[in-house]
Amino acid sequence: MRAKTKMIHGGITGDEQTGAVSVPVYQVSTYKQDGVGNHRGFEYSRTGNPTRHALETVIAELENGEVGFAFGSGMAAITSVMMLFDAGDHVVMTDDVYGGSYRLMTKVLNRYNLDHSFVDTSYPEKVEASITEKTKALYIETPTNPLLKITDLEKMAEIAKKHDLLLIVDNTFATPYWQQPLDFGADIVLHSATKYIGGHSDVVAGLVVVNSDELAEQLHFIQNSVGAVLGPQDSWLLMRGIKTLAIRMEAIEANTQKLVAFLQSHEKVSNIYYPGLEEHRGHEIAAKQASGHGGMISFDVGSGELAEKVLQRVKYFTLAESLGAVESLISLPAKMTHASIPADRRADLGITDGLIRVSVGIEDHEDLIEDLKQALE
Ligand SMILES: *Cc1c(COP(=O)(O)O)cnc(C)c1O
Repeated sequence: MRAKTKMIHGGITGDEQTGAVSVPVYQVSTYKQDGVGNHRGFEYSRTGNPTRHALETVIAELENGEVGFAFGSGMAAITSVMMLFDAGDHVVMTDDVYGGSYRLMTKVLNRYNLDHSFVDTSYPEKVEASITEKTKALYIETPTNPLLKITDLEKMAEIAKKHDLLLIVDNTFATPYWQQPLDFGADIVLHSATKYIGGHSDVVAGLVVVNSDELAEQLHFIQNSVGAVLGPQDSWLLMRGIKTLAIRMEAIEANTQKLVAFLQSHEKVSNIYYPGLEEHRGHEIAAKQASGHGGMISFDVGSGELAEKVLQRVKYFTLAESLGAVESLISLPAKMTHASIPADRRADLGITDGLIRVSVGIEDHEDLIEDLKQALE
């Protein structure tokens, strides 16, 4: 089955008993047992729920993995994955990782002595150099937020294998439609499904896929023990989102390319960050490991003052955090998503005050271009 067909016919489709073509929302906490210890596959909905199970099955297929897991948010998914490690272990992470992941490592998991190093993983030699005896995993985001830096997944898998590390990839920005990290040797792929997979700004959720039985067993134990599971209604919403993921990503890609071309021609815009551009440092690797470049663009308008004006003047770009929805969103990383990162670290990363981040939606591209044009005037 090819990707587009998998999104419609993959996983568990519909309901055998009634012929319903959509998986029912099993809004239930417990299940009648036919005898003591003799259940029909479901006992208690933290452990397993049929609607959640259907979602977990389809995401595993989309990522070419074995087993999927659904969590109450992207952060719940990331936290649960980090529960695989012990106190004293060390994780090497992409330096411009999602702000919430940065906060989790530096303000929460540090209290449990889970150690970390932030490294520019777009340089494999820097990754190698940061590995210690205690290192247990590489945690990669590619493309990153908001500078769209690209890390070579095949290289990371090589390094991980050599040092006996788990390779974990946050695939939120690329989606399984454009990029399948497990195919390049990753062990764990995860998503904030709040973004492209849900796609309509109406659900908060996280997904994880693994491709070994051993990891699946460990993660299921953690999912059930920690209990940060996704509810049946939200699981259903994600399955609904997945059905249109391919066509949404195609539409977003087409709009993004047109918007980038417009930005390139605008005199007030400098430093456009988009991996689809040949001059982007990671372009070649992005083209090798992903079949599309996604709908995220960042660009510099030179000053925080103009950036704020643009954000106030736009009509079709909603001023909001988050990304990956049908509606275009616009934000100012330095003041919003990355405000919790100390100013000096922000400067090191290149997140200037004039940097605007756009998540391109599926509106008419001419309206989007006209809107940005008038806002930049
Ligand atoms: C949003 C996001 C997260 C966190 O997900 P939530 O669903 O908001 O908890 C993690 N990683 C990336 C790349 C994200 O964009």
